[in-house]
Amino acid sequence: MSLGEFDLIARYFTRPTQRAVLGVGDDCALLQPTPGMHLAVSSDMLVEGRHFLSTVAPQRLGHKALAVNLSDLAACGATPLAFTLALALPRPDETFLAGFARGLLALADEHHIELVGGDTTAGPLNLCITVFGEVPAGQALRRDGACAGDGLWVSHALGGGIGDARLALEVFRGRISLPGAAFERVRCAMEQPQPRVALGLALRGVASAAIDLSDGLAGDLGHVLRRSKVGATVDLDALPCSDVLAAQPEALRRECTASGGDDYELLFCAADDMAVRAAAQAAGVGVTRIGRIEAEPGLRWVDRQGRLLAFSPNGFDHFAD
Ligand code: ADP
Ligand code: MG
Repeated sequence: MSLGEFDLIARYFTRPTQRAVLGVGDDCALLQPTPGMHLAVSSDMLVEGRHFLSTVAPQRLGHKALAVNLSDLAACGATPLAFTLALALPRPDETFLAGFARGLLALADEHHIELVGGDTTAGPLNLCITVFGEVPAGQALRRDGACAGDGLWVSHALGGGIGDARLALEVFRGRISLPGAAFERVRCAMEQPQPRVALGLALRGVASAAIDLSDGLAGDLGHVLRRSKVGATVDLDALPCSDVLAAQPEALRRECTASGGDDYELLFCAADDMAVRAAAQAAGVGVTRIGRIEAEPGLRWVDRQGRLLAFSPNGFDHFAD
């Protein structure tokens, strides 16, 4: 007999509650907010064929579904508390569910965040997670605080960079090919991003503005600049990249790093370089200064000699043609 909706929830998505007052199994979950804290709430939906390929291992998909949500909390400087999972599945495939739940809950445990509820329905594969976090009132990192004179920074794995997820996508699209080990590394960047929660927390009081990179640096930086009513100059050749991406032709490397998407790194602005480096060290994450915030609106790209480039990558927009 196939697995019913409630057995499925009980088997794969119900665990004893820890911090929550009430978890899975009632009409609502109950959370106890900490006095003096603001709740930080964010949802991200993953649709097959749009946000992930059918070839992804279920365990990695479980990881990524939560990782992209934790990345939003990181970009706010919020501490993760709990999350809900709304799931549409074509059928109750237990191999898929077991792998998906394993990847999802492993990342949840790593960040001490618990699954407190959700919804389960039959339908084309679609995953929507809502995360709840908290941040001391008035200390959230926002998009609208960048000031002329601030340095512009991006996070990355130690020894790594941004743009690998896009490079992996180009391999899947058949545009380029990579040797096996190199492909596995960039595929891992695409399928198992590491949300920069510790860095987000360490940047409270240091960063003037922050955003996580989901739609590509150019597009996401544009959001910060517009919200903050400032402009920026970015050194295209200073964008950090992995050895694999560094070995690609210049045009492809620039395209992947400047407009790749799916990086889930933090892009942030700060007045004090030393404080940024101390925060990154405390969080065990790499950071690279890639440009500066300026009063003049707009985004200007320069090369490593400081020459202005005619370069205009686009951010990703689901409804753009
Ligand atoms: P209701 O009909 O009252 O919305 P449901 O019958 O849909 O409740 O769900 C029963 C319980 O299981 C609720 O507590 C709900 O939050 C939880 N739940 C449903 N789907 C999931 C899921 N995919 N992951 C975690 N909890 C879930
Ligand atoms: Mg329901």
